[in-house]
Amino acid sequence: MVYPEPWCMPRLFTAGIAAFYEGYYANKGVKIIKGTVAVGFTSNSNGEVKEVQLKDGRVLEADIVVVGVGGRPLTTLFKGQVEEEKGGIKTDAFFKTSVANVYAVGDVATFPLKLYNEIRRVEHVDHARKSAEQAVKAIKGSEEGKAVDVYDYLPYFYSRSFDLSWQFYGDNVGDTVLFGDNDPASAKPKFGSYWIKDGKIVGAFLEGGSPDENKAIAKVARVQPPVSDLDALTKEGLSFASKI
Ligand SMILES: Cc1cc2nc3c(=O)[nH]c(=O)nc-3n(C[C@H](O)[C@H](O)[C@H](O)COP(=O)(O)OP(=O)(O)OC[C@H]3O[C@@H](n4cnc5c(N)ncnc54)[C@H](O)[C@@H]3O)c2cc1C
Repeated sequence: MVYPEPWCMPRLFTAGIAAFYEGYYANKGVKIIKGTVAVGFTSNSNGEVKEVQLKDGRVLEADIVVVGVGGRPLTTLFKGQVEEEKGGIKTDAFFKTSVANVYAVGDVATFPLKLYNEIRRVEHVDHARKSAEQAVKAIKGSEEGKAVDVYDYLPYFYSRSFDLSWQFYGDNVGDTVLFGDNDPASAKPKFGSYWIKDGKIVGAFLEGGSPDENKAIAKVARVQPPVSDLDALTKEGLSFASKI
């Protein structure tokens, strides 16, 4: 695996969280090269890829290459026809665009995120599904003359790899604490992080959580309980969430 950043998934993961996954992948035989990018490929006479050239001059042998370099919302089709903001199509809390009867949902929608009183875009499956549901509710509501509640989304991201599974709720801003067993060699690792801003927990991450434990961290991110002692929070870890 090759990536330019100092650790994997830096837009969400802290260095502490990433260290676990990098260690886990390394234990599976995955070699990680950081701080550089792929700049070219070499193929044989059959057109099969044989090498990947890195910006730092290194060359990696390869039989197959998987390129995951991100994406941008495809809004060109609508350029100049709908209002845009923050790289997406601007909507209200019902996913209505600036054009009557035109709705935008999922990755392309820039919408008011009520919990943080901010206009945001969210690129995740859960929001793609829920925003579509909200748009349908709004359309049906307007047809039937019924009021619909504004979208009140708690950001939720998840992923699975090998036998690992993590969930994250809320906002990853502010200070962080890392708790639990994050030894990549553990038989059943379970660890997490809280993000603390203005004396309140605003985000929570958990690897290896049970459905109830995941529900508990979601509640923490929604309720945003105050905390003053970060060392005590680190020690309490997941049991802090279970009390909320
Ligand atoms: C590599 C990768 C890994 C990801 N992993 C996760 C993950 O682990 N967890 C998670 O929550 N999210 C993940 N995501 C994000 C998630 O896939 C997206 O947030 C989600 O698919 C967004 O749904 P959407 O319906 O808004 O857009 P999309 O799923 O992108 O659907 C848009 C569709 O519109 C089509 N389209 C575009 N232009 C036109 C046109 N002019 N005419 C007709 N059709 C058109 C496209 O072909 C596409 O099928 C990942 C994304 C990527 C790329």
